[in-house]
Amino acid sequence: MLTGMQIAIIGGDARQLEVIKKLTEQDAKLSLAGFGQLDHAFSGAVKEKMDEIDFSEIDSIILPVSGTNTEGKVEAIFSNEDIMLTHDHLAATPAHCTVYSGISNAYLNEITKHSNRRLVKLFERDDVAIYNSIPTVEGTIMMAIQHTDFTIHGSKVMVLGLGRTGMSVARTFRALGADVRVGVRKTEHIARITEMGMKPFHLDELVGKVKDIDICINTIPVAIVTAKVIASMPAHTLILDLASKPGGTDFRYAEKRGIKALLAPGLPGIVAPKTAGQIMAGVLTQLLQEDLEKRKGKAK
Ligand code: NAP
Repeated sequence: MLTGMQIAIIGGDARQLEVIKKLTEQDAKLSLAGFGQLDHAFSGAVKEKMDEIDFSEIDSIILPVSGTNTEGKVEAIFSNEDIMLTHDHLAATPAHCTVYSGISNAYLNEITKHSNRRLVKLFERDDVAIYNSIPTVEGTIMMAIQHTDFTIHGSKVMVLGLGRTGMSVARTFRALGADVRVGVRKTEHIARITEMGMKPFHLDELVGKVKDIDICINTIPVAIVTAKVIASMPAHTLILDLASKPGGTDFRYAEKRGIKALLAPGLPGIVAPKTAGQIMAGVLTQLLQEDLEKRKGKAK
């Protein structure tokens, strides 16, 4: 239980509602900023404006998946006010206050560092990334179905990268009957792909390997699907780029060549916001519990 914890939830979308639900069930006291247009009320949670929150009482701050933008603005779809998180807010919190965010940027890194507050980037955690790969794959399948006139079954699908997302994508497309080939750079990944019954290749050979593919799914967050690679693909190939913005595809060249290439960010929040929210809520509850126990241990 999180009895005695005072948490500020600042901004977010439908995913944050699952977090609020779970944390109030755990008896935490919540200050909600950026939820002014939300009709629903949660017992134990109070909607406040940023300047109404007493930050000196706040044990943890929970930001949305995107954190802040580079000027400190926090996305808040349940509010039409500008919600800003500043160094002054953090400096007003107790020293033990931890900031939780999905991802970070230079601004958020700087204000947490400068105020000496701990920043936890949830999406860097293996558990969150692996759980998140489940709705990501479902969204990828949805996009593949929407943007092709052939079945996944029997089609030649190339997956680039065998990280937390690539592994789930490759396995699921294979389970749907696709002929899956996976491009990687490590010998242990070549071995793993072979063990999984798929066709591995080294990324150095990428240009030669795309000549007969139907779908190319990229999970590598560097420029990998270059103009040279795209020039070697059949004209009907669909490129789905899952890597974080700006993706790893030369979209300009793909358009010029008439190849459909789609950047598909944030699929969990689009196809399964409830599940995506529950994933974050589950991990946050565990981490907040650990924070609380640590603090109680120190107080003894
Ligand atoms: P990950 O576990 O770190 O996997 C990244 C993969 O990219 C690994 O296979 C890694 O290979 C490879 N890679 C990285 N840099 C490379 C380089 N310079 N050359 C060749 N290969 C390289 O990350 P993840 O959790 O799977 O996420 C992958 C991407 O998808 C991220 O950009 C993430 O933000 C994004 N994502 C998007 C969605 C969505 O909804 N679209 C959902 C989840 C994640 P090595 O092991 O050899 O380094």
